[in-house]
Amino acid sequence: MTHPGTQPSLDLAALIETVQRNERASKSFQDVELRLIGAHDWCAFLEGIFVYLPEVFRLASAGLWLDVRMPLLRDLLESGCGRADLEANLRSGLQGGLALSRLCAGSQPWLGRVSELSDLEPAVSETFFDARTATGSAIVLPLLNRTQLLGYLCLASDDSARFDASMGTDLLARFSRVAAASLDNVAHREHLRKTGVTDPLTGLSNRRYFDERLHHEIRRANSHAAPMSCLFIDIDHFKQINDTHGHATGDLALGAIGTCLKQQVRVGDTVSRYGGEEFVALLMCELPDALAVAERIRIAVEALEVLDDEGRRIALSVSIGVAAYRLNSEANSGAASPEALARSLLDQADQAMYRAKHQGRNRVSLREA
Ligand code: GH3
Ligand code: MG
Ligand code: MG
Repeated sequence: MTHPGTQPSLDLAALIETVQRNERASKSFQDVELRLIGAHDWCAFLEGIFVYLPEVFRLASAGLWLDVRMPLLRDLLESGCGRADLEANLRSGLQGGLALSRLCAGSQPWLGRVSELSDLEPAVSETFFDARTATGSAIVLPLLNRTQLLGYLCLASDDSARFDASMGTDLLARFSRVAAASLDNVAHREHLRKTGVTDPLTGLSNRRYFDERLHHEIRRANSHAAPMSCLFIDIDHFKQINDTHGHATGDLALGAIGTCLKQQVRVGDTVSRYGGEEFVALLMCELPDALAVAERIRIAVEALEVLDDEGRRIALSVSIGVAAYRLNSEANSGAASPEALARSLLDQADQAMYRAKHQGRNRVSLREA
């Protein structure tokens, strides 16, 4: 039933149009997000931001300002990616950075006309645009990785009405989190490559890298009260696998398990080969989530299809110990060094792993209280 004066079919059509537009935007963001998450090096990340993103959203330009007070980001900028066309869109000036933090106070995105931006914060406009010719509208998006601001992304359209302050920013907020986590991940990967801390057999980082990363993350967890958990993962009866199927097949199994572990954790988490048939993972989450990830890993390893020389499937399993980093606990509140706290967290996860072994292997365990 319709009331006089209302036009339900028109309203409905407008609503459907809005929903469809939002769905299209969400799908486009997802495409770009997947591209960024999958970027294995600095060049692939920059291609995602400066080539793919403008193509998908039909943008006039994209620019990225990086906070080079962070050593990993400074390294990225200094070592470059070998593509001048991509690097031309990178910025890092101090004045621009100060103006950007004023414009996006509280790490909120800014949307509006470029002419407005020039009036409001000329240094931001000069950072990203040729001030004499710039027209249209823009989004300035803070890239926040958990609590750490890595930089700002500026997306511009020739259409001066395309971006304005009244637009919904939920999709932008999600995109900014994914882009920031991917940037952080790429920065760590490049650091890893440069310092020669990759394990050649599995392609994962090695113990030296893990220890360094763990110290870094403990300092960050302490200053930002961020959750963090550790997994200690040991292959079950691996000696027997070598003895039965040969060392080369053992190597194959190690590689397959390494790849599987990496697939089961999120961007921003760290997985390393810690020793012979032992792996460790550092997860940016609380204990219940870490237990769920560990169980997911256990099941995924059990399902792996690794074949020996004769084409027979090898039964693989892992025992996993889980420990959560506890902020403000007695051990953490004193003057303990990040190195001592890291050792204690790893010891707890290692002891939990031994418990899993004693309980029968192929299981996830916590250390006894
Ligand atoms: P558990 O379930 O108690 O962990 O038994 P396990 O046999 O896995 O443990 P153990 O420590 O007795 O043996 C580990 C084996 O892992 C022995 C070693 O030869 C093998 N290993 C270590 N590094 C490598 C490697 O790079 N390649 C291969 N193929 N084997 C390795
Ligand atoms: Mg072992
Ligand atoms: Mg073992």
